[in-house]
Amino acid sequence: MDLTFSEEEIEFRDELRDWLGSNPPGEEPRSDQDAAFAFRKEWQNSLFEGGWAAVHWPREYGGRDASLMQSAIFFEEMGRANAPLPANGLGLILAGPTIIAWGSDQQKDRFLLPILSAEEIWCQGFSEPEAGSDLAAVKTKAVQDGDEWVVTGQKVWTSVAQYSKWCMLVARTDPEAAKHKGLSYFLMDMEQEAVQIRPLVQITGEAEFNELFLEEARIPADNMLGGEGDGWNVALTTLMNERSGLGFFLQTQLRRALDRLVEDAKENGQIDDPVVAQALGEMHVRTETLRLLAYRGLSIIEQHGQPGPEGSLTKWLWSETNQMLSQLAVGIRGAKSLTEGDPWAYDLLRSRGNSIEGGTTEILKNIVAERVLGLPRK
Ligand SMILES: Cc1cc2nc3c(=O)[nH]c(=O)nc-3n(C[C@H](O)[C@H](O)[C@H](O)COP(=O)(O)OP(=O)(O)OC[C@H]3O[C@@H](n4cnc5c(N)ncnc54)[C@H](O)[C@@H]3O)c2cc1C
Repeated sequence: MDLTFSEEEIEFRDELRDWLGSNPPGEEPRSDQDAAFAFRKEWQNSLFEGGWAAVHWPREYGGRDASLMQSAIFFEEMGRANAPLPANGLGLILAGPTIIAWGSDQQKDRFLLPILSAEEIWCQGFSEPEAGSDLAAVKTKAVQDGDEWVVTGQKVWTSVAQYSKWCMLVARTDPEAAKHKGLSYFLMDMEQEAVQIRPLVQITGEAEFNELFLEEARIPADNMLGGEGDGWNVALTTLMNERSGLGFFLQTQLRRALDRLVEDAKENGQIDDPVVAQALGEMHVRTETLRLLAYRGLSIIEQHGQPGPEGSLTKWLWSETNQMLSQLAVGIRGAKSLTEGDPWAYDLLRSRGNSIEGGTTEILKNIVAERVLGLPRK
């Protein structure tokens, strides 16, 4: 693919750089989870007011009709500016595009604008205690009662549920149908007594995700996305957006972290140790490979209209590299990287989840083996 920017792309980048110059994101507070979330909410609101909240959305819904290349530029520039992820990341990257693809006019009118402004936060209620990698095994059931659905079951690992107004919920509406066919997709209001949220504390000390207990939660029939039994296909739209949308942001974050570590190594003289220099060199090669793989992913989308299975390779390489980098940082910076409050200590602990969230490394390896390399199915 041609990586030279067109005039239009340069114009887009310069406009964004100017805006970021006059609206710098500032430093995200790391010590307090609620304060960090409030900071990211404010940041998203500022993006919204500048018209930058969701460049990849169509203009008629508040986006900028950005091409894939412009979206890549957007994420790279956010990385350069050290910007945090917006508070409503799941709304912008997952719920919004899924509603745009499957929603009725009424649903688009109701839900899209508050997603952009971060006025209403969204979470993703897919995983269950016995349905993670195998999403089609979802057991949470929804039973129709007049013009409402009544939902009972349990979800787990639901990120930002504690801040969310809405949940993208996959539930079983037909227990008789084949596994994938009996599912439907709902937009569930989290603000009801029948939805109980229990935080799960992670190794970082934060409770980024939660358990959700649903005891006859009520969802108006108008809040089903797609038709009854379409849940699997609607969920695939959400999952495809998850892997393609985040790729660029993650690789710019990695580059930023690596540059930070190289500076530290220069400051404390560790860079003169050939073993350290070689390890940093390997990180550079991996990070650059990821950047090029992310662009390659773009050209695949341009050619075929949707992300290919190669995206799994990017996610696998990113999670492995991010974990290696935070371990290398401890070696280079010494014990202070293990003390509370040090950003590297947080990264070291948080990166353990990278090889689980958004598809485990084992599942990604299966996809690469079967669908990229064409090896026999196990
Ligand atoms: C930080 C974080 C945030 C998350 N946020 C959300 C969220 O907001 N919403 C949401 O719905 N979910 C969320 N998840 C859940 C995540 O999607 C699941 O954890 C993931 O899909 C794996 O499912 P599981 O935990 O049930 O593990 P399982 O599927 O039970 O897997 C257990 C182990 O078996 C391996 N395994 C399973 N099947 C196979 C196979 N066929 N071949 C080889 N190995 C296999 C897995 O790789 C894993 O090592 C989050 C997870 C994390 C870590």
